[in-house]
Amino acid sequence: MSNAISQEVATRRTFAIISHPDAGKTTITEKLLLFGRLIQTAGSVKGKRNDKHATSDWMAMEQQRGISVTSSVMQFPYRDAVVNLLDTPGHEDFSEDTYRVLTAVDSALMVVDGAKGVEERTIKLMEVCRLRDTPIFTFVNKLDRDTRDPIEVLDEIETVLNIRCAPIYWPLGNGKGFQGVYNLYTDTIHVYEHGQGSKIPEDKRIQGLRSDEAKALLGAYADDYADEIELVKGASNEFDLEAYQAGELTPVFFGTALGNFGVRELLDDFVQWAPAPRARATETRVVQPEEAPFSAFVFKIQANMDPKHRDRIAFLRVCSGRYSKGMKLHHSRLGKDIRISDAVTFKAGEREQADIVVSGDIVGFHNHGTIQIGDTFTEGEDLQFTGIPHFAPELFQRIRLKDPMKTKQLQKGLRQLSEEGSVQVFMPMRNNDLIVGAVGVLQFEVVAYRLKDEYKVDCIYEPVNIFSARWVTADDPAKLEEFKKKAYDNLSVDGGDHLTYLPPTRVNLSLMEERWPDIKFRATREH
Ligand code: GDP
Repeated sequence: MSNAISQEVATRRTFAIISHPDAGKTTITEKLLLFGRLIQTAGSVKGKRNDKHATSDWMAMEQQRGISVTSSVMQFPYRDAVVNLLDTPGHEDFSEDTYRVLTAVDSALMVVDGAKGVEERTIKLMEVCRLRDTPIFTFVNKLDRDTRDPIEVLDEIETVLNIRCAPIYWPLGNGKGFQGVYNLYTDTIHVYEHGQGSKIPEDKRIQGLRSDEAKALLGAYADDYADEIELVKGASNEFDLEAYQAGELTPVFFGTALGNFGVRELLDDFVQWAPAPRARATETRVVQPEEAPFSAFVFKIQANMDPKHRDRIAFLRVCSGRYSKGMKLHHSRLGKDIRISDAVTFKAGEREQADIVVSGDIVGFHNHGTIQIGDTFTEGEDLQFTGIPHFAPELFQRIRLKDPMKTKQLQKGLRQLSEEGSVQVFMPMRNNDLIVGAVGVLQFEVVAYRLKDEYKVDCIYEPVNIFSARWVTADDPAKLEEFKKKAYDNLSVDGGDHLTYLPPTRVNLSLMEERWPDIKFRATREH
């Protein structure tokens, strides 16, 4: 074990934001970057991004849609910590990408709109966090607007998301009457001032809820607030670091991302409590982050980050050791050694040569088609990290060429796009169809666009009668053979040659599951 590596690893805080669209993820990201000194004025992130990629067709499509298809990595120092924020695509059609980003983080920040409470996409994303007991911070946003009763919002989080809430701060009013937040542990009021949103606001505090200064600020409501807070203290959970780190309890913060208030409070406690990188499981053993040999896995592949280089970048989450330029790495799946000299890190969207890279950090490798999601890279040991999921698609279409001469290009394109995780492809056993499966409708469009743009093939989609996909396995090979004969008409292999059952209806699926108790029908598949 290396002391230098473990000291460095202890500073890392790698996380992603989960929220429903419009809750304020982009706005809070911007404010975090402001505190991380990556930007000087808020309001610049979106504009800058647009200018930068104005020439790219791919990005043009993204802009046209007003969504962010891409997902990037932002690293910034804050206090003694080095924070890695992994951006996730906001549009639900790219939820698979988001799910996989969540496998690469050590914790998450949940942003909830104070007026709307827990919304549908947050519920889904929390389910994914649950798979790994990811520790969650909660920020209740938009307190500068009229919100619901905060007690009600916390109740909703507890019942709908099944996680205990421990408010660290409590809001003093909302909407026009929003005065600030009160720290339940230090008896301090953090005073909100309007119009500070584009910069780092002054840190104005009042010690003591019952102090004269507090009374002057809160006026006629001072006693009401004091009573309410007394009640909240008695009725809510106390913060418990262990329970938080086990994913059982979430510390709750309040504020306004737009007004850049409450974000500093969140960040201060986040760097203190959020977990540093932890041990990760592989098929053969557990890898500790401070081990000297380098290891990492691919959680995302992204095309055309830079319109000038029409390449693809594989994003790797480092799990141990230290990456250094020009090191020789072992690509476990291919059993091949390669030398990586041009790894990149992504600091606020700018490409920079990777610097000190340890567990928790993200590196980007240029990918010329040999790297797949889920791949593990080491310094020689044959390892395969587990827990990087494929989710069963929910939408299916048959893809057909306009020009039948281009079958080879289509197959190649679809294979590569499925390796990237952009889409899933299925080849039925009984015919030569190509079925494309996606989690969101927009994915189909992106695939057609990229097939045309990058592989020069024009495609059309046709409807197919498929309800869902299940990866099938069985302990008993004879049973599997028997099943294959019976279910032949609805069986396919996917892009990775895994046997899949594509039932035409929900009823078919339930019947099959009932009739074949020895066959496992899985809705997710790990790499
Ligand atoms: P995202 O879809 O989660 O990334 O949400 P955005 O950050 O783009 O915010 C959605 C909308 O809510 C935008 O118009 C923001 O300006 C607005 N918004 C975000 N945070 C706040 C807030 O604290 N107060 C108010 N009033 N509006 C906010």
